[in-house]
Amino acid sequence: MTMKKIAILGSTGSIGLNALDVASSLGGLIDVIGLSANRNIKMLAGQIERFRPRVVAVGDENAAREIAGLTKRHGIRVLWGEAGLVGLAGLEDADVILNAVVGSVGIAPTLAAVRAGKTVAIANKECLVAAGEVITREARRSGSSLIPVDSEHSAVYQCLKGESLSSVRKIVLTASGGSLVDMSAVDIAQVRAAEALRHPTWKMGRKVTIDSASLMNKGFEVIEAHWLFGVDVDRIDVVVERKSLVHALVEFVDGTVVALLSRPDMRLPIQHALTYPDRMETKVEGLDLQAMGPLSFEKPDYERFPCLRLAFDAIRAGGTVPAVLSAADEVAVEAFLDNDICFGDIFRILDEVVAGHQRRAADSLEAVMEADTWARQKAGELAGEFARRG
Ligand code: MG
Repeated sequence: MTMKKIAILGSTGSIGLNALDVASSLGGLIDVIGLSANRNIKMLAGQIERFRPRVVAVGDENAAREIAGLTKRHGIRVLWGEAGLVGLAGLEDADVILNAVVGSVGIAPTLAAVRAGKTVAIANKECLVAAGEVITREARRSGSSLIPVDSEHSAVYQCLKGESLSSVRKIVLTASGGSLVDMSAVDIAQVRAAEALRHPTWKMGRKVTIDSASLMNKGFEVIEAHWLFGVDVDRIDVVVERKSLVHALVEFVDGTVVALLSRPDMRLPIQHALTYPDRMETKVEGLDLQAMGPLSFEKPDYERFPCLRLAFDAIRAGGTVPAVLSAADEVAVEAFLDNDICFGDIFRILDEVVAGHQRRAADSLEAVMEADTWARQKAGELAGEFARRG
């Protein structure tokens, strides 16, 4: 592999940290030229010392001031706010932009990177869930390639290597089941943040861990798969595989099924995206097939985890509906993490916000962001009401 220059948007989050770990382990093959952090300036400062990027982006002007001494000393350009992320995403000599920020703040930077014709390693879910139509259209125009970082989509991507999409019969995404997989519906409704944050197999950020517990995350992944692979949602299935060893399966028209297996370690799909099309060594162990025991595949329970159904309904409805679902979920999950509402309230908020939305075409960034703003406000009002009712 020849050396690649990368910029990491969201370098202090779970994916960002794993990506820097991958970059270090690949030594001189990856040059980290851009980093960004929203609030964790202390951690970013450590990363700057270690990786010496050329540009960094931070949440706001205050954060930029906080870090000014360090960046001046090393001659690093500092950007801030959403414009800063967009600037970092379009960084002229970057070969790969890794978008690992959480939330719809990641949409505009992805679009900027795509329009600049970059290879974009996508870890930010919201950009494809909310703006999949715009982003995939612009990528076709510019010739930009989108390489998924999420374990499931990375698995599908790898299963499809050398295949044509017309030979795909079905895509199957696996779910671990999340932290509440065996709980009764009555108990699930009352769950509080600390309990839902205990994910059985993956170590991830807080937002995605809660979304895994509700299966909202799997629902978003169905929407992402639809846009990434151009497969109709009726040909995308979800199964529960509790060990998180099988990440996805692709069934072809001849009845052949190809699956991808590995340990649940995010460094694998991250490295795949950063080094594609090369495959480089890692220290991650392979699978001990005899020790891992039997694998099982179960149908997800749409009654206990109704958020999964919301996602299928949203992408079938199309237009701005997935953007609304995604933005409302950000607000609802934040309220849940703040202990303002119970787990069951997340679905109630999403269901009500979507039901009250007037669907529009989602064919521009403006239309998507307008729906996003509307949904946030509506979800915020509902979260406030549920919090007061207790
Ligand atoms: Mg995933």
